[in-house]
Amino acid sequence: FIKTIVFVYYTMCDRNHKQIIALLDQPGNQFCADCGSKDLQYGSYNLGVFLCTTCATFHQKIGTHVSKVKWNDDQVEGMKSLGNSEAKKKYEKHCPIFYRKPSPDDPVILLEQWIRAKYERLEFIHVDKQKYNTGSMEDNLLVKKRRDDSNYAPKRFVLSQENGVLSIYSNEVGLKRTENINSTSKIEHLPCTSKNEPGRTLCNFTFIEEGVTRHVFVTHENGEVLIDWYMAIRYAKLLTLRRAYPTASEAELLPYLTKDFEMEGWVSKTGPHENDAYRKRWVTIDGRKLMYHLNPLDEMPRGEIFIGHSSEGYNIREGASNLTKEMGLVFSLVTPERTFVFSVATSSERNKWMSVIGRVIATPLGTQDFQCRALLDPSKSRASRHSWFHF
Ligand SMILES: [Zn+2]
Repeated sequence: FIKTIVFVYYTMCDRNHKQIIALLDQPGNQFCADCGSKDLQYGSYNLGVFLCTTCATFHQKIGTHVSKVKWNDDQVEGMKSLGNSEAKKKYEKHCPIFYRKPSPDDPVILLEQWIRAKYERLEFIHVDKQKYNTGSMEDNLLVKKRRDDSNYAPKRFVLSQENGVLSIYSNEVGLKRTENINSTSKIEHLPCTSKNEPGRTLCNFTFIEEGVTRHVFVTHENGEVLIDWYMAIRYAKLLTLRRAYPTASEAELLPYLTKDFEMEGWVSKTGPHENDAYRKRWVTIDGRKLMYHLNPLDEMPRGEIFIGHSSEGYNIREGASNLTKEMGLVFSLVTPERTFVFSVATSSERNKWMSVIGRVIATPLGTQDFQCRALLDPSKSRASRHSWFHF
C-alpha cells in the first residue's frame, strides 16, 4: 500500500499543472484531507487527496516519496479519481463518533496515528480492526516513577469499558489502584511531549483521589498502543455518560470526553501574606480547575483552585489590590475565599491567561462541574497542604 506524493506547486505552467490547479478549486479540496489545514502543498496521486506539509511527511513515512517537478497524465488522473470529499467518505466511513480527529495544531502523535489508522490499517473501512471499543483493553504501559523524571516502570493497565473501571497493577505488588470512571471528571488526559524529555510522548491520566487531583503519566514505545488507549478511555467515558444522561444527544456528550488542558505554562504565583515572595509554578487549566505544580511532570499539583461562575463572586482582573504585590505583569483571580495573585513576563501572556480564565468564569456550571467541585476537597488542597507549605 504505497502512497506517492508529488509537490503541487512549481513554476512551470503546462496543461497538467493547470488541471491540478483547477482540481484545487473543487469543493473539499481547499483543506488538507487529514487535518483540515488550509496550507496545501502536496498531492498523493494513488490516494487522490491533497495534503498539508505536516500530514504529507507522515504519508511519506508509511509510503514512498517521489519529488517531481512535473505532473504526468497518470498522476493527474489519479488526483481526479477521488478528491478530498470522496476520500473522506471512503476512508473515514466507519470512524467512531468518540475518535478524536486531529486539528492542524494537535500533537503530532495524534496526526500520525490518525493517518496510519486511516490509510495503513484501514480501521475506518474494516470495523473489526478497531481495538479501542471492544469492551475491554489490557496492556503493559510505562508509568513515570514519582519524583524521578527519567525512570519509567511497567504497569499492567486493565480497562473495562462496560463498567467504566480502570485498574492499574504494579508488577511486584499486584493491584495498585482501581479507578472508577463512573464519575466523569475522573479521567482527563492529553498526549504531550514532555519538556524535560523531548521526543517522549506521554499521556496524562488525571484522577481525583481523596479530594485532590493526581496525574499519572504513561507512555509506550509504540505510538499506536498509546493512542488506542487514549481512544479506549474516550469510549469508556462516552458509555458512562450515556448511562448517566440517557436523554442527552451524542453532540451534547462529546465535549465531556477527554480533552487537552485549556492552557498551561510557567507563571509566578505569590501567597496570601504581604511578604510572600513570588514562586515559579507550572500552571494548568483543566476545565474549571486551575492547578499549580512545581514541575510539569509532578504527580500532584501543589494546589488547585475550582473556578466558579461570576454570579458566585469569581472575577479576574489586572493588577493586585495590594501594591507591594506588583511585579512583572500581574493579574488576580478573585474567589469567594481568597484572591490569588499571579505574574507573567509579557502582556500577551497575561492577556491569554486572563481571557481563558475569564471565559471559564463567564460560563455557567454544568452538571459535570458540580460533580468536579464536590470531588475536590478544599480542606485538603487549601488548608492543610497549602498553609503547611506557606502558600
Ligand atoms: Zn494536514
